[in-house]
Amino acid sequence: MASNQKFGAGIWHFANYLDRYATDGYGDHRTLLDMIDMAGSVGDLSVVDLTWPFVDPGLTHEKIKAQLAKNQLEVIGITPEIYTRKFMKGAFTNPDAGVRREAHELITDAVAVVKDFGASYVKLWPGQDGWDYPFQVDHHNHWKLAMDGVGQLAAENPDVKFVIEYKPREPRVKMAYDSVSRTLLALEKINLPNVGILLDFGHALFGGESPADSAQLAIDYGRLFGMDVNDNFRGWDDDLIAGTVHPMELFEFFYVLRKNNWEGVWQLDQFPFRDDHVEAAKMAIEFLKRVEKGLDRLDFDALQEAQSRHDAVAAGRLAREALFG
Ligand code: FE
Ligand code: FE
Repeated sequence: MASNQKFGAGIWHFANYLDRYATDGYGDHRTLLDMIDMAGSVGDLSVVDLTWPFVDPGLTHEKIKAQLAKNQLEVIGITPEIYTRKFMKGAFTNPDAGVRREAHELITDAVAVVKDFGASYVKLWPGQDGWDYPFQVDHHNHWKLAMDGVGQLAAENPDVKFVIEYKPREPRVKMAYDSVSRTLLALEKINLPNVGILLDFGHALFGGESPADSAQLAIDYGRLFGMDVNDNFRGWDDDLIAGTVHPMELFEFFYVLRKNNWEGVWQLDQFPFRDDHVEAAKMAIEFLKRVEKGLDRLDFDALQEAQSRHDAVAAGRLAREALFG
């Protein structure tokens, strides 16, 4: 079966990073134009997710668009930076109403960027919306602000999609949007059609979820708007190369997507601190292509039959044979 599966990546895959130890960074600063060229050199990427404001604030949209076109790339999402120093105590849930308003304005400006680039959504990653200590926040007020902030944006911009990427923790010790179920609870309450979930496979793993089950739940509630993959050891958001640690769970995740005819871009959200960035993306996509072939080989009817009996051995054999041949 010829594949027309599209692949994508967060542009940060091609950045160099700092952490609290290597405060001099794991490599030299790269410009956005360099990163776009690197994304292009992967060969299999069709789209990128861009953080905004852009890494190089002086760049015009025209220059960025020309670089994207040169590399046959399009923009799938714009991720407004609502998690930087200004928002260290939260964007939607910041105790200062003025900072909450700034977050609202920044995201509203990002809506215009989404439209200008013809992207699919504004990605909300409320990494600072949370708390660190017992008794630090009033949980009722905190959660209400988290929901109201997203709800207001979705109501004001009915022609644009918003996706929330939930994550259990980091940088906050506890995040408001920490799980698939809590995020769905908010979306049910907000009750607007243009806001959904971007399910990060690694965040689900890290949160103790079964990513396949999380995907099914989000699909059943009509809210799976996007996804990205990577891998980790479950104790942290390691953002390792997809397929290197949890290949079977990744396979089951994609099985659920295909079973439900979910069509969307398979995106990478990896942080190759010490590895060749382009090769790390290639290695992930090589595995994702194996996953696709595995799904082509998988006997869905036989699997459904085994699952109807909760037969772990029969189902596991079918899955293993399909993936590893
Ligand atoms: Fe992600
Ligand atoms: Fe992450």
